[in-house]
Amino acid sequence: MSDTPIRTRIAPSPTGIAHVGTLYIALFNYAFAKQHGGQFIVRIEDTDRNRFVEGAEEVIFEALEWAGIVPDESVVHGGEYGPYRQSERLETYQQYVEQLIEQGDAYYCFCTSERLADMRAAQQAAKQPPKYDRHCLHTYSLEEARQKVAAGEQYVVRLRVPEGKSQWTDMIRGDVEIDHAQIDDQVLLKSDGFPTYHMAVVVDDHLMGITHVMRGEEWISSTPKHLILYEKLGFPVPQYAHMPLLRNTDKSKLSKRKNDVSIVSYRDKGYLPQALLNFLMLLGWSHPDNKEFPISLEEFVRVFDMDRMQKTGPVFDVEKLNWMNGKYLREVLSQTEVAERVQQYLPENYPVENIPLYLPLVLDRMGTLLDFADLTDFFYQDTAIDTDQLLKKGATPELVVQQLQETATALEALPEWKHETIETAVRALQELHTWKKGQYFMMLRLAATGRKATPPLFETIHAIGKERVLGRFADCIETLR
Ligand code: GLU
Repeated sequence: MSDTPIRTRIAPSPTGIAHVGTLYIALFNYAFAKQHGGQFIVRIEDTDRNRFVEGAEEVIFEALEWAGIVPDESVVHGGEYGPYRQSERLETYQQYVEQLIEQGDAYYCFCTSERLADMRAAQQAAKQPPKYDRHCLHTYSLEEARQKVAAGEQYVVRLRVPEGKSQWTDMIRGDVEIDHAQIDDQVLLKSDGFPTYHMAVVVDDHLMGITHVMRGEEWISSTPKHLILYEKLGFPVPQYAHMPLLRNTDKSKLSKRKNDVSIVSYRDKGYLPQALLNFLMLLGWSHPDNKEFPISLEEFVRVFDMDRMQKTGPVFDVEKLNWMNGKYLREVLSQTEVAERVQQYLPENYPVENIPLYLPLVLDRMGTLLDFADLTDFFYQDTAIDTDQLLKKGATPELVVQQLQETATALEALPEWKHETIETAVRALQELHTWKKGQYFMMLRLAATGRKATPPLFETIHAIGKERVLGRFADCIETLR
């Protein structure tokens, strides 16, 4: 082992939302760097000006901060290897492109989009793979090409892909070999003076001292282009680890059509960052003790091991995330902490003073912080009660009216409004009249809450409050009479 410090990075493009796939890759890069006492860098790859979205960069950093994945170096965090935004490094790329041209490893191409389209159509018709036919390489000497450039002609610069093979030992996939015959003469510098991803990624990973490139498997087919560039530029090659692609439950690539993929929207829906991270850790990796929960970020940094990564696409199953989040709410956070956190997820008119009263009743059923408002709305809001529902299990309107009246009188007379006293009074009435328990209790639940499924009946009646419960009973009586 050399003493080179381990440096990893993510290189998101600011083209829209901050994607959970980015957080997934960030998590593993972060853990690997931290485990080795190294640095984790965030570089913004904004060279594709057509896909650039204003504000997208800010959202990436907001999302990472929420998740607690703190970069050592970035546009926001600074660092010695900046600028960390590719659009600010154009001259650097141009220098290296020039070097490649001088060496004969890259060449100018003046082909119009029409010519390229015709060429592709012909290749398609002949069932050949789409590849640039090297027309400009064969037509112009370097001197002629430079004259055309000087005369102001539009051009791109292409990599001259050498014959042979690229081979590397991927930390997740083992030995990978790709024949260059499959590889197009990739554009390195576009006509707008911006580098393509392939050129910029190699130059930046090198200049920023990146030792391990851990990225999504969708980049495997690009890696040979990068390896050629490393060789031609004389840069040492980093280690590669191509991470399995996250999938929808139907095994297709995780997409926003089938899943919510925005990190910030998971925050807004009331997921805890530590639960989302724990969930992401287990996509493609398993804990050495097969532990699933709770695994903190600190523990992950300690126990993460690349050898425990699997190659096949892990499924992003929101049900599992809900389960995980619920477990964090119940078993990791205290009720006081949950009570504090739910406050950001409540409608305006919510009686916040009642949170401690409601929370123990619904915590078991909460998957997210946002669930709290939905599960407790009937405690304090007017709720529609379908009185037909009260007449189940053979109960007549007369019986139900009598039950409601007697229950109301008994509750009204309680010296103390506690779930224990409510329970004693209700059970005494049931025994006195030998009412059927199933019918009577379900009827009470419906009359008090408008719902069939609620937290335990007496605690619920208690939490709704005497006045509101008696009001609901009175309304039911009136409708049934
Ligand atoms: N900009 C690329 C992306 O958006 C980075 C790929 C890489 O990590 O090399 O995913």
